[in-house]
Amino acid sequence: QAELAMYKSKEAGRNALHFFDQDMETKVTRYANMENDLRVAVQQQQFILHYQPQIADQQLTGVEALVRWQKPDGSMVSPADFIPMAEETGLILPLGLWVLETACRQLAIWANQPERAHLTIAVNVSAHQFRQADFVDQVLEVIKNSGANPHRLKLELTESLLLTNVEEIIEKMIALKLTGVSFSLDDFGTGYSSLSYLKRLPLDQLKIDQSFVRDVLIDPNDAAIARTIITLAQSLSLGVIAEGVETEAQRAFLASADCHAYQGYLFSKPLRIDDFETFAHRYK
Ligand code: C2E
Ligand code: MG
Ligand code: MG
Ligand code: MG
Repeated sequence: QAELAMYKSKEAGRNALHFFDQDMETKVTRYANMENDLRVAVQQQQFILHYQPQIADQQLTGVEALVRWQKPDGSMVSPADFIPMAEETGLILPLGLWVLETACRQLAIWANQPERAHLTIAVNVSAHQFRQADFVDQVLEVIKNSGANPHRLKLELTESLLLTNVEEIIEKMIALKLTGVSFSLDDFGTGYSSLSYLKRLPLDQLKIDQSFVRDVLIDPNDAAIARTIITLAQSLSLGVIAEGVETEAQRAFLASADCHAYQGYLFSKPLRIDDFETFAHRYK
């Protein structure tokens, strides 16, 4: 009897191991396939930018450009599902350049439309991308070739960038700022930036992460963090914008804490360019 039980458990173990292997294999295959698909996607530029409005003091001031992968089968992949892989494989470099070029081309189009010429575009720049030795030259080249006004281009950096070589990062930021480009620190409060770095970085804006905005009315800690970020921005003479604003009550709280720039579903989700034009037209 005992022998039989032992045999059964061994068998079960072997099967479990077998299933585990198969599962791993499936995952590895799927990952390899996706990497290959992403490589092709970058070659064939299967991407589209969506633009999410940013509102300050009841005015439409600009947008954030958010990339989507439009697969040949028509499905749309969200950046959360491919940016990490793009980072791991280095594909973020050509992809990031495409995003920058596309956003700058849009700025150049708006520059010729009096009612749009004031709009800024915020472009997400990954740490990997910013750390390239020739990043500044790349941006200058894209600006020159597109005819975009650099004063309308905002680059969103994240705190993860600040883990290495802060001196070099500051130098690059200064070089770009001299041309008119501005900088926002995205997802602020979720990373590791030390306050002494923050003081030295030539930033223009802090972007309150949506994780603090979400529960700002129900979680006193999130409310305290949001208030602290707003005060910090004021002390450092930086602008501040809240992301992920979904309700009027959240907006009102932020306004009472002296944050007057917002991005979120309360105003609009990220839009294709033609839908953005409709939004902008109606907004005034
Ligand atoms: P992010 O830069 O923090 O962008 C904000 C994200 O919040 C976007 O997700 C946006 O669609 C979403 N969002 C906007 N309003 C609301 C709201 O009211 N509620 C909620 N729950 N969410 C809201 P998305 O477009 O899926 O992008 C996710 C992340 O992918 C971005 O976070 C950014 O880190 C990254 N990403 C997007 N485009 C690019 C890109 O061109 N380059 C790089 N390096 N990263 C990108
Ligand atoms: Mg962003
Ligand atoms: Mg963000
Ligand atoms: Mg975020």
